[in-house]
Amino acid sequence: MTRSADLFKRAQEFIPGGVNSPVRAFKGVGGTPLFIKKAEGAYLVDEDDQRYIDYIGSWGPMITGHADKDILDVVRSRLDLGLSYGAPTELETEMAEVLCKLVPSMQKVRMVNSGTEATMSAIRLARGYTGRDKIVKFEGCYHGHSDSLLVKAGSGALTFGVPTSPGVPADLAQHTLTLTFNDIEGVRACFKELGDQIACIIVEPVAGNMNCIPPQAGFLEALREVCTESGALLIFDEVMTGFRVALGGAQEHYKVDPDLTTLGKIVGGGFPVGAFGGKAEFMDKLSPLGPVYQAGTLSGNPLAMAAGLALLKKVSQADFHKQLSSYAKRLCQGLEERAKAAGIPFVTQQAGGMFGLFFTEQSAVNNFADATACNLERFNAFFHAMLKEGVYLAPSAYEAGFISSAHQEEELEATLNAAEQAFASLK
Ligand code: PMP
Repeated sequence: MTRSADLFKRAQEFIPGGVNSPVRAFKGVGGTPLFIKKAEGAYLVDEDDQRYIDYIGSWGPMITGHADKDILDVVRSRLDLGLSYGAPTELETEMAEVLCKLVPSMQKVRMVNSGTEATMSAIRLARGYTGRDKIVKFEGCYHGHSDSLLVKAGSGALTFGVPTSPGVPADLAQHTLTLTFNDIEGVRACFKELGDQIACIIVEPVAGNMNCIPPQAGFLEALREVCTESGALLIFDEVMTGFRVALGGAQEHYKVDPDLTTLGKIVGGGFPVGAFGGKAEFMDKLSPLGPVYQAGTLSGNPLAMAAGLALLKKVSQADFHKQLSSYAKRLCQGLEERAKAAGIPFVTQQAGGMFGLFFTEQSAVNNFADATACNLERFNAFFHAMLKEGVYLAPSAYEAGFISSAHQEEELEATLNAAEQAFASLK
């Protein structure tokens, strides 16, 4: 038995499913999850001392690679100053200044402790500001696990939502309308009927939780338009895309101006952090200035702020995103070439430093139905074949892949060599 298998068995005795977040359990792809001992640069090392090129990067935060010395030094230098004060610090203001400078639509921002908290709070603010209850989300987009967001579409396009998880009250789920990503007409029809009851649209501007699906031309612009017309707020959930698709996030790349933005992952440099912000007109409705309540014991934690600021400084360097994007493009292109050579129908999609792999005959994947129509068995076999060759992809066909600036020529070549073997094994 491997040490990972042994540790997984032990974990399952006291942790539900042996993990603290479901996708880590390898349930979708099957097999035993690797237990990680340490990580450095582009690599993870498991408890059996196997080394893997990592394309998860802790699901996004480790954009300059693991155990980045610059970040570790900053964290070390703060340790002796204490771990948390529950009182304001200069670091929090520095973080707010940096975020408002980097994210085009952001004038004010508040720190929280996870992406889930960020989206939950942004939705409360949109509801509080507009005095409306309904929200619009898109099938296949994930915005954390708060009640209003664990909702799927009802049976017809315009029926009210139903919970995807026991524990979410149907009374609450009915306020969530779930539409099809990239379907402009569907959005217009919904707003024509219910626009004056809708508090906000929340969207991943590049969907990264049903694999990687960029917006089609005009989709994000149409969302902006219906929100402006109806008085609903447009929330871009940039927890994943922030500082990854471009320095200023997807809103900078696609030049669309949301009212509120949610952030996480990279902002904390590897610590548990989220943030939500936007136009002062909306943000000033938050307590203590306004009536919309939101709070947090550890929000703005000094270690997390210091690590996050150090990472944001690094990703702000000239050409950082150009290089990240160039690696991701070459990776995707190389994978497609090798799949073609092996006669396997396969396409990739990519936006900045995130990418998606699809086993499909279609030339593009544009929504949840397209993503779920892909060949899941093939993905799972490919995942395990790559793992055997020392490449750690996301253990699910519905997650985007992430690269870091620590991924260089050596890793690219090793990954593509591994893929050649893996595609051949699928035949
Ligand atoms: N929004 C998006 C777009 C996400 O990808 C995630 C998590 N992957 C979340 C929100 C929730 O963030 P967290 O897991 O930090 O609660």
